Amino acid sequence: MLLFSFSTDLLVCQLQWTDKTSRSHHSEASGVSADSLDDIILAGRITGHVLREVSQRIRPGARVVDICELAEHRLLDRGATGLAFPCNISIDDVAAHYTSPQHDSTLIPDSGLVKVDIGAHMNGYLADSALTIDLDGSHPNFISAAHSALQAAIAEMHPGVTVGHIGTVIEREIRRIGLTPVYQLAGHEMRRWTLHAGLSIPNISSAEQYEIKAGHVYAIEPFATDGTGAVAERRPTLIFSGTTFGRPDLPAAARDLLKTLHQRFRTLPFALRWVQQMGLPDVEANLRTLINAGAIRGYPVLVEASGGIVSQFEHTVLVTEDGPVVTTAV
Ligand code: MN
Ligand code: MN
Repeated sequence: MLLFSFSTDLLVCQLQWTDKTSRSHHSEASGVSADSLDDIILAGRITGHVLREVSQRIRPGARVVDICELAEHRLLDRGATGLAFPCNISIDDVAAHYTSPQHDSTLIPDSGLVKVDIGAHMNGYLADSALTIDLDGSHPNFISAAHSALQAAIAEMHPGVTVGHIGTVIEREIRRIGLTPVYQLAGHEMRRWTLHAGLSIPNISSAEQYEIKAGHVYAIEPFATDGTGAVAERRPTLIFSGTTFGRPDLPAAARDLLKTLHQRFRTLPFALRWVQQMGLPDVEANLRTLINAGAIRGYPVLVEASGGIVSQFEHTVLVTEDGPVVTTAV
């Protein structure tokens, strides 16, 4: 049985397929091979546990860089093959894509909303999960809006449901609590080694007719704000990913860096901080060469355009014929 539930007991049951019969039955229902299923489930479980663990370290005065590094180390300590993307810690009107650069002096403030967004991969199979902490407890509506929108959306994740319907459910929940969805951000399908693949899962109502499919993995991530729901980019960009790995036209030092980045991260996003820590000569200049040549792309820091504060909750969902399995629930 693969009923959707946040309950730990059910998830543990789902994870304990010890005999081959139940394992292959499960694979059949989920539409993915047994080996990839194991990796999808394990990446989710590691991510969920570390997210919970790290969220307990989000306290006023804590250094953001320490929390990023703790999260990233814990994902690997727990057996992840690698990181799906850098740990994102986005505060207040920063909606997404902030990760500390090296020597970041940013501290967790005394009040406001802190989003922690992390992901592990197992052999390229990805998990992506986020939560929001209300530092002084003065924004409970932001927490309940994004959280209940996520739960309502997950319950609808059955094969054949349109992504437009999922967005409608998310928007309705957020507005019911008196806030606005960040309509320029969306959930996304995930495929092996590709964080943003195939379908987008909108956070607002639409007539989008693309259908959710069994055997596919989706990240659902409602964002709620008291602003207009648009986002703007803020420099500097702190997260990148490779777009191509053969650029013979570039200078040798830039080509060498591109090769190293490909070997370490393939097509997955990486942090400026990780590149800075490689200790290579002129690494930031070579990185700029690669950006300017289009060999790597940036994921700019995204802030709420009108200065509203933003909450987010996110889970990774494997859709099966029997319904959604939340891989990142713990
Ligand atoms: Mn995420
Ligand atoms: Mn995501």
